[in-house]
Amino acid sequence: MTSQRTRDRLVERLREKGIKNQRVLEVIRTTPRHIFVDEAMAHRAYEDTALPIGHGQTISQPYMVARMTEVLLEAGTPDVVLEVGTGSGYQSAILSRLVPKVYTVERISALLQKARDAHRKMGLLNVYSKHSDGSWGWEPKAPYQAIMVTAAPESVPPSLLEQLAVGGRMVIPVGSMGGVQKLKLFTRTVEGIDEATLELARFVPLLDGAVR
Ligand code: SAH
Repeated sequence: MTSQRTRDRLVERLREKGIKNQRVLEVIRTTPRHIFVDEAMAHRAYEDTALPIGHGQTISQPYMVARMTEVLLEAGTPDVVLEVGTGSGYQSAILSRLVPKVYTVERISALLQKARDAHRKMGLLNVYSKHSDGSWGWEPKAPYQAIMVTAAPESVPPSLLEQLAVGGRMVIPVGSMGGVQKLKLFTRTVEGIDEATLELARFVPLLDGAVR
């Protein structure tokens, strides 16, 4: 159930759904997703669905992980990516195999501990994580060429836009939990901020404050 064949099948599905970046597909094919979910969920780890990870949170759907990663890399490989919403740590593990450095912020301490364990198990040394409210970004390391937000705010946190470098890209779902969310791409240019809507999305909400 966690065999290479099952993973190959997932990648085939992602390709059918329109993911084109070969590097992204290869990294998904060779990254174990089952170590980012509880054992009771492991048999579903290579389905193209979000799965519960406790604390009312979910590991994102592989299609969304692939799509958001592909969008961030479209303009070239950034040196650093800031991820808001570490969750299981799966998305940051995927990013860490494609870019030199990943900074990731999670508000629920218990989830962050588990994510760190999973990263250690994989031997990843280029993921730096912090327990905090990621709406404020990660100031001392800013500005970023790439920001990925994996929880949905009702409107875009201004600090995140401020921490975007000129030429930088931020991919973020925006909208309310019950209502329609849109996956958006913000690009900072010398003149200001460009905004594009990519597709509909369904994420857990971006919440205020850090908790145990
Ligand atoms: N990227 C994750 C997706 C996890 S779901 C993965 O691959 O598994 C989104 C995560 O965002 C949840 O763990 C939630 O606790 C976290 N989150 C929500 N609001 C946040 C905030 N303001 N700052 C940091 N993390 C937040």
